[in-house]
This record gives sequence, structure tokens and C-alpha cells, in this order.
Amino acid sequence: STVYLNGDWLAAEQAKVSVFDRGFLFADGIYEVVPVYSGKPFLLEQHLARLHRSLAALTIPSRPDPFWHDLITQLLERNAIADGLIYFQVTRGAEAQRSHLPQTELDPTIFASVSPMPVHWDIPAPAKVTLCEDIRWLRCDIKSISLLGNIMLKQVAQQRGALEPLLHRNGLITEGASSNYFAVKHGILYTAPADHLILPGITRMWVLELAKQLGLEVREEAFSATDLAQLDELFLTSSSREVQPIGQIDDIIIGAGRCGPVTAKLAEAFHASKQAYLSK
Ligand code: PMP
Repeated sequence: STVYLNGDWLAAEQAKVSVFDRGFLFADGIYEVVPVYSGKPFLLEQHLARLHRSLAALTIPSRPDPFWHDLITQLLERNAIADGLIYFQVTRGAEAQRSHLPQTELDPTIFASVSPMPVHWDIPAPAKVTLCEDIRWLRCDIKSISLLGNIMLKQVAQQRGALEPLLHRNGLITEGASSNYFAVKHGILYTAPADHLILPGITRMWVLELAKQLGLEVREEAFSATDLAQLDELFLTSSSREVQPIGQIDDIIIGAGRCGPVTAKLAEAFHASKQAYLSK
């Protein structure tokens, strides 16, 4: 595939970064993932707003929106991809020697690639997740490339035969290793508030919007790990999985292991909104 690195378009194998890049030495950087359907980036404005927010939090300068728009257009053209996931990564840049405190006025390293992803129109089968303590840092709102906690938790989930960890901090559900969670109880939709303990998922935000349009009662309140057995429905969201029903948490079966009615309604609304967006 053809990738973008610091102003150049290169074959992926040719793209090389300095060992003094602060991304390599310190994971001093951020990333962003944007889904593209039929050549159109979905919810791009929201993804770029999050990219700018992540960079601002680390005092790494960003580029204006047209720069990113152009990158996406070129990536899709050069790779002849219509449906896929765009990956952007920005690190603080390379410097002469390793030092925790960054030098000012570094040139950020900008990398971009795209990989194909088929558009799904069906609701996926309910998946299993596993409850884990959230061992990550306290600024999960920044889309940092430092993902050690997420990786370790994903490995634990895999060992337990689960799709994702269901993370809790002091007994309250935060999110997944690469997804946000929603629970349904007595017809009310719950999800953790968008504070510093979770990544504010763009899919999460969109599902909240759809839920409000459907007239559902929504509470941005973290639900408790001790109440999991009492939940009527559980699902997760992310740019790549969209709305993914959950039928099992460790040994607890949720909603007889089937996709519940509220989850189905939201998944259908999500697909409809995608369709409407594509035909605009
Ligand atoms: N939380 C975490 C920790 C993530 O890494 C992601 C994205 N992969 C999400 C939530 C979901 O965010 P989005 O809906 O923007 O993909």
C-alpha cells in the first residue's frame, strides 16, 4: 500500500522514521482512525475535532482541516480504496538526543495510511466480553499512541476467549480496550460520562444522538460492575465494529445471549444514518 510520511508518498515498506523520534522513544504522540464508506469519510468533522483536541492536550501543533481532507482524498485515490479505515498518527517529532523534556519547535512526524474494511449492514452475532480492572492512566480522553494498558488488557481478554475486556475502575464500568460500552436497564440507556477516564468515542457520540432522536431515555452515568447480572442489554461501539451486541460477560448471560430490542433498534438506526449519509 501507499502511505504518507512527512510530505512524501511512499510504498509502506519504504516509510522509515528516526530512532530519535519521540514517538519511538516515548510514545509521545497521538492517533486517529476515521471510517470511510464509498469514498466518504464518516463523521469526519468530529474525528478531526478529536485529533486537534488530543494534539492540543500534548501541546503538539496540528494542521488545519484542509490538510487532513487532502490527505484522505489522496490516500483513497492512491490506494484505490472506497471502504476502509484511515489511520493518522502524529508524534512530537525527532530530536538530537533522548530527553524526557521535549525541545520546543520540533517538526511533528505525520504518518497516514488506509486499510480496506468492508461495510457491514447486518447486526453482528452477540459477543462475549470479560470484566477486568482498568489499569490504564488517568488521561484516557487523549487518543495517545501509548497503548500498553490497552494491549495487556486485550491479551487477557483473548486468553479468556472474549472479544473485549469490560473495564471497571473502582467498580464502575469505564470502557473497553478499543471500544465504548452501553447498557440497557428498564428501557434506559446508560454509558460512562465522557470524562478523563474514557476516550470520547465518535461512534458513542453518534449512538447517543440516534438514541435521543429515537426518544430513548439516556443517562451518561457509569453503571456498576456489581449490577452486570441485572442488565437487560449490553453492547459496545467503535468505528470499526459500529454497534456490537454483547451476550455474555464471563459466566453471566445477558438477555438470553441474544441481541436485545434496544440494541437492534440502535444498530438499525446506525445503518440507516450511514445509508442516508452515503446518498447525500
Ligand atoms: N475507547 C478506546 C480506548 C478506543 O481506542 C476507541 C477507538 N478504537 C474507542 C473507545 C471507540 O472510539 P470510536 O468510536 O471513535 O472509534
